[in-house]
Amino acid sequence: MKKLAIYGGAPCRDTTKNPWPKWPVWGQEEEVALIEVLHSGVWSYNGPKETEFNRLFAEYTGVKHAICTVNGTITLQIALEALGIGVGDEVIVPGLTWQATAATVIDVNATPILVDVSEDTWCIDPKEIEKAITPKTKAIIPVHLYGAFADMDAVMAIAKKHNLYVIEDCAHKHGGEWNGKKAGSIGDIGSFSYQLSKHLTAGEGGSVTTNNSELADKLDALRNCGRRPEAATLEGVDKGAGDYGDDDGNFIQSGNLRITEFQAAILIEGLKRLPAQNANRDANGEYLNALLSEIPGVSAIARDKRETKKAYFNFAFRYHKNDFKGLSIEKFRSALEAELGIVVDASYEPLNNCSLYVPHTKPSRHKLNDAYWKAIDPKRFSLPVCERIFQEESVCMHHKLLMGTKADMDLVALAIEKIYTHAEELMD
Ligand SMILES: *Cc1c(COP(=O)(O)O)cnc(C)c1O
Repeated sequence: MKKLAIYGGAPCRDTTKNPWPKWPVWGQEEEVALIEVLHSGVWSYNGPKETEFNRLFAEYTGVKHAICTVNGTITLQIALEALGIGVGDEVIVPGLTWQATAATVIDVNATPILVDVSEDTWCIDPKEIEKAITPKTKAIIPVHLYGAFADMDAVMAIAKKHNLYVIEDCAHKHGGEWNGKKAGSIGDIGSFSYQLSKHLTAGEGGSVTTNNSELADKLDALRNCGRRPEAATLEGVDKGAGDYGDDDGNFIQSGNLRITEFQAAILIEGLKRLPAQNANRDANGEYLNALLSEIPGVSAIARDKRETKKAYFNFAFRYHKNDFKGLSIEKFRSALEAELGIVVDASYEPLNNCSLYVPHTKPSRHKLNDAYWKAIDPKRFSLPVCERIFQEESVCMHHKLLMGTKADMDLVALAIEKIYTHAEELMD
């Protein structure tokens, strides 16, 4: 008789009786806050909730300024724009990330340079950054992927040496800390997403963070039709453009990239929950990683000692087929999904061969000239480590996996061991 859940055996976790913790998390606090916004009639931008959330998120992230905008894609785009990056510039981006990290570089008419990641952390490899630098390089966008930290000491040292800007893509790292400094406070600008899948969510949304007041003013203007910010705008009253210019009365071209008070209301409540949620996910993540080290054929993503707060996100680990009786990773993932009743995915597709990073499908927008067209061809980049991670090693699960108890983690380890013990069933 076959034992594995994928063949009808009893699963390690019966999610009909014992479901995983739910995501997103909300309660009466969110209901009250939403009704408050509804009744106030202040539904649009720069209202009291948004102002309050910006203040709280800046404080939480340890920066002078945090500014809300529509999502964690636009955050990257306005960060690039605020830094003056565009035509003729190159921006170094890891090859393993969500497509937005690179696509936004093209959306400002600059050239993304895809570089490989470190095998042990899946984050941008500093040695590869060095190799990719040219006289055109203007910025680096490290991504703190699946809750691991890019090596920010190395990234900042390279940036300093070559006079480059650093935009931290913190879409997976709300609350993470490197040597006591929060993710999003180390580079010139931090970029956060509040999409439903992230640590902190309003369904959609994003923030940029910075310690530079001049950049903050630009970022604020870029998300608000080019209007310059003024203290008076924080009252939620839409004044005429004349009140918003800089000291010389100048504006910048932009569009409406603003969030609503409803989103800000949810974010304020979510931010109150985040420290405890992160602490629980981190305790469970550490515990599960320790269990993984005892099981043949799997290993943990390396966690740098300089990570003083981990902010585990979408638990990921490495699979080694040769130490797992030769079982293909696809079969391993399907079997694990059946045992645990939770979706088990591969990592992001490497950007040199990613179905959603296809700039050549938009010639009317991106074919500025033949040289640029060639420069933005993702296929010109070689990313062997990203490819190996995606094709052979990556096992990724939603962070709700980490939101329960240690006993849940024991179950995950048990499921992996069960698949190891019964691997031959899968090889028939
Ligand atoms: C989610 C994500 C983004 C984009 O955020 P959205 O809010 O979905 O636009 C950018 N970078 C990374 C690494 C992400 O995971």
